[in-house]
Amino acid sequence: MALPLVRCASIKKTEAQTSQTSARTPSEEWERFEAACGKAQEQLTALYEKALNEVGEDNAAIFEIHQMMLEDDDYLDAIKSIIDTQNATAEYAAATTGENFSAAFAAMEDEYMRARAADVKDISRRVVNVLTGVDDAQMIDDKPAILVADDLTPSETVQLDKSKLLGFITRHGSSNSHTAILARTMNIPALVGVDFQDDWDGKLAVIDGYNHCVYIEPAQELLSAMEEKRSNDLKQEALLQNLKKKPNVTLDGKEIKVYANIGNAGDVGLVLQNDAQGIGLFRSEFLYLDSQDYPSEDQQFVIYKRVVETMAGKKVIIRTLDIGADKQADYFELDKEENPALGFRAIRICLTRKEVFKTQLRAILRASAFGTVSIMFPMIISVREVRDAKEILEECKAELTERGVAFGNVEVGIMIETPAAVVMADELAEEVEFFSLGTNDLTQYTLAIDRQNPKLDHFYDAHHPAVLRMIKHTIEAGHRHGCWVGICGELGADQTLTETFLRYGVDELSVSPASLLPIRKMIRSLDLSKEAQV
Ligand code: PEP
Ligand code: MG
Repeated sequence: MALPLVRCASIKKTEAQTSQTSARTPSEEWERFEAACGKAQEQLTALYEKALNEVGEDNAAIFEIHQMMLEDDDYLDAIKSIIDTQNATAEYAAATTGENFSAAFAAMEDEYMRARAADVKDISRRVVNVLTGVDDAQMIDDKPAILVADDLTPSETVQLDKSKLLGFITRHGSSNSHTAILARTMNIPALVGVDFQDDWDGKLAVIDGYNHCVYIEPAQELLSAMEEKRSNDLKQEALLQNLKKKPNVTLDGKEIKVYANIGNAGDVGLVLQNDAQGIGLFRSEFLYLDSQDYPSEDQQFVIYKRVVETMAGKKVIIRTLDIGADKQADYFELDKEENPALGFRAIRICLTRKEVFKTQLRAILRASAFGTVSIMFPMIISVREVRDAKEILEECKAELTERGVAFGNVEVGIMIETPAAVVMADELAEEVEFFSLGTNDLTQYTLAIDRQNPKLDHFYDAHHPAVLRMIKHTIEAGHRHGCWVGICGELGADQTLTETFLRYGVDELSVSPASLLPIRKMIRSLDLSKEAQV
């Protein structure tokens, strides 16, 4: 999507700017540190107040904890000692102390202390940012802007103030990464893998998402052309609004469900605006990425309930925690892995850290009392895993019943995103009520191509016959055993394949909110009674 004239604002990661040895005296460095600490305390007070208004006292409390940690004598002594003995800069001393304390906390027996590992890193980062003049919160604080950064992790992306973010450009990252997917879900133009120049900061720019390029200080002629393109886009979008409330039926009468993918409760507005029949994929892990600590059952319940209530009886499929690989939250303290995409992630974490899993399942079950909820388990490879997950779900139901807490009937399904699940589809279908094809991972694992690696974008061919055959096989196997089958990976929004998927018999497509109306238009234009065009 092309954008009108906007300013670029770059994020500079603090690590790049921290020099070790100081040209100042230790007492000058200590004064710098104390001043930065004062500023950090002010920021934390403002954050506490904002959180108190927006998400309540329980959630705001973390900022009070951070304020207390910044006053901790041991922490301050360690920083002072590094400044004094190593003639170090205040930022180096703060960053190093943050790392050291975090490692020490992470190794502790006490669960509460272990959880503080991420917090001590966070407060140190805050002080370092003040000292080096980088302020994450301010990177798009005053005016809306295009953000330019070396990279953005999914957790950084999810924390950005969307009202100020007109687009983003990153040097690293691939178009199949979760950061890029998140941008599509939020309907924010994003370019990844762009070798930007440092002097773009503050300049006017236009992102041309169609051609994967950005124009810096464009000439008037180009600018007018882009503005015309943008206004045509808006007209097309407005025309698509006519499709609202119309059924998703092909010309020959085949009906199909079109649902939306969301990353958090804030995306539901776009879902309603684009008239989805339900939510086919709620990537619940973004709720964890947006937190400094494990979200409690109550915190999760409030969010799931909000989504379920807003969807007013329409189906909401909540995917259980799919964390790991590129989606990292410090407080999980996951080990560094040689092959993270093949590592400790998703259902593997949930079945191992049962209490984390149960907290989420209870929250989802409680929300199910307020509408229509389905639970979906990610990254399944075996019948055993599904049975174990369902057994834990039953334990949660029993616990809620004992507590006298209401919950509804939840449909249970799994994501089919590994070749193992495709091959086992007949057996797996006996265990669940639906399948949802996660074509992003299915493509990655079928083709043995890391979806995070931009150098491999060219080889990442989601139209590969092997991937398409897997999809067909899954749909047929699901139907043989009475399971409905949907597609919630990015391929579901690929209009060049809509006809193919319908001919395979897919029951549902779940796409980013901005793709809902275009895909519905495509469905309504198809006639499956005619010979397929090859
Ligand atoms: C997928 O793999 O296709 C999917 C929908 O899950 P995610 O992109 O979140 O891994
Ligand atoms: Mg996946």
